[in-house]
This record gives sequence, C-alpha cells and structure tokens, in this order.
Amino acid sequence: MTQKLYYENQYIKDFTANVVSCEKSEKGYEVILDKTAFYPEGGGQPGDTGFIGGAEVTDTVEKGEEVVHICVSEVGGEVGCSIDADRRFAFMQQHTGEHIFMGFIHKMSGAENVGFHMGESGVTVDLSEFVTAEQLDEAEKLANEAIYKNLPVKAVYPSSDELENYDYRSKKEIQGQVRLIDIEGVDLCACCGTHVAFTGEVGIIKIVSSMKYKKGVRLTLQIGRRAFEDYAAKHKNVHSISVALKAKPEEVSEAVDRIAAQLYEERSRYSALKKEMLALKTADYSGRECCVFDDGGSADDARILSDMLAEKVEIAAVFSGDDENGYKYAVTSRNEDVREIGKKMNAVLGARGGGKPEMIQGSVAAKKAEIEAFWKENI
Ligand SMILES: [Zn+2]
Repeated sequence: MTQKLYYENQYIKDFTANVVSCEKSEKGYEVILDKTAFYPEGGGQPGDTGFIGGAEVTDTVEKGEEVVHICVSEVGGEVGCSIDADRRFAFMQQHTGEHIFMGFIHKMSGAENVGFHMGESGVTVDLSEFVTAEQLDEAEKLANEAIYKNLPVKAVYPSSDELENYDYRSKKEIQGQVRLIDIEGVDLCACCGTHVAFTGEVGIIKIVSSMKYKKGVRLTLQIGRRAFEDYAAKHKNVHSISVALKAKPEEVSEAVDRIAAQLYEERSRYSALKKEMLALKTADYSGRECCVFDDGGSADDARILSDMLAEKVEIAAVFSGDDENGYKYAVTSRNEDVREIGKKMNAVLGARGGGKPEMIQGSVAAKKAEIEAFWKENI
C-alpha cells in the first residue's frame, strides 16, 4: 500500500521515494513508489503530473490500495520526485472553492452537485435542482465572504458511530473510512481530494456561465488562479474593444448597442438606395432580351435585378461579380422556360446552376467577353 503523502501534507511538491515496481504498459511505464505526493485522479480532481527521477509523469491513477504513476520512461531505485505544483495548487483552489460555493447553494436550495468536473480552464458543476439567478448571486457573494474570513479547511476521519451525528454532503455512497472536509459554518462534505488549508488561499470564486441542464442548472466557475487568468484575458479584451470603440471600458456594452442600432439603420438605408438604383438601371431596357453586368454585385443583387428586368424584357439575364472572381447569375422570364438557357450555359461556359422554368440561378467562372459572346450567339 502506497504511503499517501498528499494526505499528510498537501503542500509537498518535492520528495524522495523508492520504486517498488515499474512495469511497461500501453500507456507507458506504470510506476509504484513506497510513498508519494502525486494525487491520483479521483473525486473530480485530475491526477498529478511531474517528474519521477528523470521520467516525466503524464498521469496518476489509483489501483486498489496503490497509487500508479504513468511515466514516459523506466525508473528504479531511490528517486527524487517533483509534482507540477502550480497545476496542483490550481486544482486545490478549485476543489476548495467548489466546497465553499456548494455549501451555500446546498443550504439555500437543497441542490446537490451531481456532475463535477475540474478542467484546465475551469470548473463545471451540475446542480440537481433548479436555482434562481438571485440564489446564484447570493451564493457567489457568500462564498467570497467566506474566502475573506480565511477559515481553516480541515480533514476529519470520524468513526462509523460518530458519522451518524454528522450532517454532511456526499457525492456517492462511501465504503470504509469516510474523510470529511470541514469548513466551519460553510460546508461539511465527504471528499478524497486535496484542498488548501485556509479559505483565503482560494482567492476568488466567480460564476462565468449558467444554463438549464436536465432538472437543474449547469454552472461554469472560475476559481483561484484560473479566475485571475480569466479576469486578465477578459480585461485585455474589454480594453481592446474600448480603444476600438473610443468608449470607456465600463461603457463598451452601451457603445456596442449604439453601433448595432446604427448598423441596422444604415443597412435599411442601403437596401432602399439599392432598390432605387436598380429601378434606375432597369428603366431603359426593352425588347426581347437583355444581358446585364452588375460589377461587384452579389447573387442576391443578380436575382433582384433580373426579376425587375423581367418586367421590361422577355428574357432578363444578370451577371453579378467580376472577371477575376467569376459571376453569380440569374436569368428570369415571365413567359418562357429559361431552363434550356441554363443547360446551354453549363455546356458551353462551364457554368453551374439551374432552377425553375421562370428563373435559373448559378455561377460561372467565364470572362465578361465570353459571356457576352455566348449570349449573342445563343439567345
Ligand atoms: Zn474536495
């Protein structure tokens, strides 16, 4: 049975141990030490990484009573070991933060955390019951107040008799010795993970998203160092937006609303002008057919313009685009079946498209001169 240093002192990052066994497996080398500070994956907390001797440890898992380190190369004898302490401390902050936050949510609503995940970029929590936005705000506020109070975070190991007197949260039925994490007045929860010694070390707890999930709510929290990194990244973003919009950082939201409203107005004006312009363009056309080029126009422009032209001529073709990027076309007629024209364009010009008897649409990579020549010869 591996001696679990992480339960004796969760802050140990460097230690010396003896290799008990080192066996090759498909994941690498599975190394068991006589004692370890590497926390094995469990209770929603990922396994530690680091080094054993010169060998990188990519993961740590528990197998029965043993802690198994997944190493990239072989090790033996007495080895110096070090865990990735920054990564582990971030998990300790996140884990403790989850206890504090859930303690208040649980008291408030009776909701349990039924899906807990600590990732490299944040913590997700699935609540078993629905809680309101106001309750979330209140729990977040109380959780941060508990951080400021710098309360001790204790691990207690009650006997099975004593356990009956405790009212504690638990994520699952536990066999054998129960380990309770006690934050007085805040939370009491059965947990096998690693935690900070005082709530102050958690730093900050912030809900960054919440959505309805099954019967309850799925939350994403930023806690501790991750919360700081999240704040720094968001601050940078707001600063860039503030500079771009020439607005104070605290007023960027109003500035974006203003710009969106302006854009909507401009777009409406633009489409009105476009319609007027198209009406002018179509004013002079008459006769059996026409082939019009709308430089730089879009597929929509081609469709609208050809539809307007079809009021004036029997067969109206519009090619929007340019020689370099090709053309989007629309051919419209009120009385004739234009699908034959589409087939010819596909065959002769290598166009792609088709449609209904009264309108065909598509694209063609040919040059303006080629299209005009085709039209003259065939239509
Ligand atoms: Zn925990």
